[in-house]
Amino acid sequence: MASADAHSAHNYHPLPVVVATADGAWMTDVEGRRFLDMLAGYSALNFGHGNRRLIEAAKAQMERVTLTSRAFHHDRFADFCRELAALCGKEMVLPMNTGAEAVETAVKTARKWGYRVKGVPGEMAKIVVAGNNFHGRTTTIISFSTDPEARADFGPYTPGFEIVPYGDLTAMRAALSENTVAVLLEPIQGEAGVMVPPPGYLQGVRELTRERNVLFVADEIQSGLGRTGKTFACEHEGVVPDVYVLGKALGGGVVPVSAVVADREVLGVFRPGEHGSTFGGNPLACAVALEVIAMLRSGEFQRRAAELGEHLHHELGLLTGSGHVTEVRGRGLWAGIDIAPAYGTGREISEKLMDRGVLVKDTHGSTIRIAPPLVISKEDLDWGLAQLRGVLGV
Ligand code: PLP
Repeated sequence: MASADAHSAHNYHPLPVVVATADGAWMTDVEGRRFLDMLAGYSALNFGHGNRRLIEAAKAQMERVTLTSRAFHHDRFADFCRELAALCGKEMVLPMNTGAEAVETAVKTARKWGYRVKGVPGEMAKIVVAGNNFHGRTTTIISFSTDPEARADFGPYTPGFEIVPYGDLTAMRAALSENTVAVLLEPIQGEAGVMVPPPGYLQGVRELTRERNVLFVADEIQSGLGRTGKTFACEHEGVVPDVYVLGKALGGGVVPVSAVVADREVLGVFRPGEHGSTFGGNPLACAVALEVIAMLRSGEFQRRAAELGEHLHHELGLLTGSGHVTEVRGRGLWAGIDIAPAYGTGREISEKLMDRGVLVKDTHGSTIRIAPPLVISKEDLDWGLAQLRGVLGV
């Protein structure tokens, strides 16, 4: 830890644990201590550590070919794009690697669609986003962040974004203009503390964007692919956005895989040379993601998240009555828990949980986030919750 501290930039403040191996929902540190992983790589590890299907798919592909670049076709690419498009009920896929790249790609897609299809005058495209959003760390993305820490000293910022309060349809309606090309939203705001919007919000956004010929871009990088008990968090309101932005669990915690998924009318705007990525859609990424998609097709992980999620939220609901916890939010195996300030900061609670063998991460001061791998057993989940009660002294 001292060496990492000496030789790496301090852009993170990790908990003092050094993981050596992991399996399912458990991680083991360099001294052999075991920890229940209740963060799951910020939801990238929905299918658990060392998932055999994913590891075998990766190994088999590594023996064949790992990278061609998009200069040539490779024999996993078409299958990946077809299967991912089908999972989303869309026609086309544009693969990238990290979440931020996919969000950047969605921004570029929406702007190009605005100019080429909607007919917005050059350089005038506007994208409406929500306050307290988290879409990644690139210069353009932090340009429309409302988090001072994420923005400070990184300007000048990219113009063309308008920020409205999350959950406020009146503000959204007022912000839409002739030049608006897209509304970009997280259907549940993860980094903000697992903020679930008011009922009807996503439907309202869907109606407004349809009326005004504006693309509804759903950033499902953290909320999607089983976490909330459905494949996509938008499904909880029966909403189908125009564009899905996916990442994290799409690579199963094995390789970085992200993508923008939409119909031809939208993604068909790209011509050769206008956008790309050396590693985007590489054979190894496609092989692992194909296995992820096949696992999601079975519905098993969504069912687990729904059933265990109901249990998790029932148990956490009991804590709110205790006075130790001021609010619990979330859906499926995903919860943001606001700790009453008298019982410690989110960081202090996370450190105490670590001492008891549970790994979580705080977000925004007094909130801790629970998002275990969807393969966690009910017994392990209950054990983790017992440790939380122990730390809070309930
Ligand atoms: N969008 C959302 C909703 C996220 O939660 C994240 C990461 O936490 C990102 C985008 C950025 O993804 P990445 O860290 O892979 O760039």
